[in-house]
Amino acid sequence: MAVTSSSTLLLRNLSTVGRIAQSVRANSRIFSTGEMIRALPRIASPRSISSTRAAHNEEAAAKAASDTGAPTIFDKIVAKEIPSDIVYEDENVLAFRDINPQAPVHVLVIPKLRDGLTTLGKAEPRHTEVLGQLLHASKIVAEKEGIVDGFRVVINNGAEGCQSVYHLHLHVLGGRQMKWPPVTVLAVQILLIVILFSYMVY
Ligand code: 5GP
Repeated sequence: MAVTSSSTLLLRNLSTVGRIAQSVRANSRIFSTGEMIRALPRIASPRSISSTRAAHNEEAAAKAASDTGAPTIFDKIVAKEIPSDIVYEDENVLAFRDINPQAPVHVLVIPKLRDGLTTLGKAEPRHTEVLGQLLHASKIVAEKEGIVDGFRVVINNGAEGCQSVYHLHLHVLGGRQMKWPPVTVLAVQILLIVILFSYMVY
């Protein structure tokens, strides 16, 4: 299903690119080659390239992981067997900085006791209290990090949701302008690069 929807998306994008490339060529006085070349570093900036790479790494990690119910690295972090940069902690919740931050502030908020919550998809009525505690802890983290007026909370669920660690966790992200929907930024960057090269090849 993922393959089908990806190819549909690709075909849709290619036809859009074709149409835009024709329009760009027809209006070449608006976009000179020089302007296009000057725009390239902005389109394929180190930040956009590294975020593209991060997205691929994240996807690869998610595909490699599976929901076996086995202990994860987060159990070791909770037990303080391996170090982490803790931002907030209470009886039920631990919040620590992500080892591979995707924003100036990127904190993971997890239940200390997993209690079957490998994914949000496993949540049952008995988990409602801890789920509320996790959201409330996310707000406390945002306050502590000075981003309470603008931040994002993300839960990746399962392989297609790009989850790589099977211990429920909330990503608290902030400190930069977030985009919505998240995939658009990457898709638009790829689209612009394809348009640019189509224009240069013609
Ligand atoms: P997921 O992809 O499952 O939604 O997120 C897992 C997150 O855990 C990733 O963002 C990854 O960078 C982070 N992570 C994985 N291992 C460690 C670790 O050992 N320490 C910390 N602080 N973060 C980790």
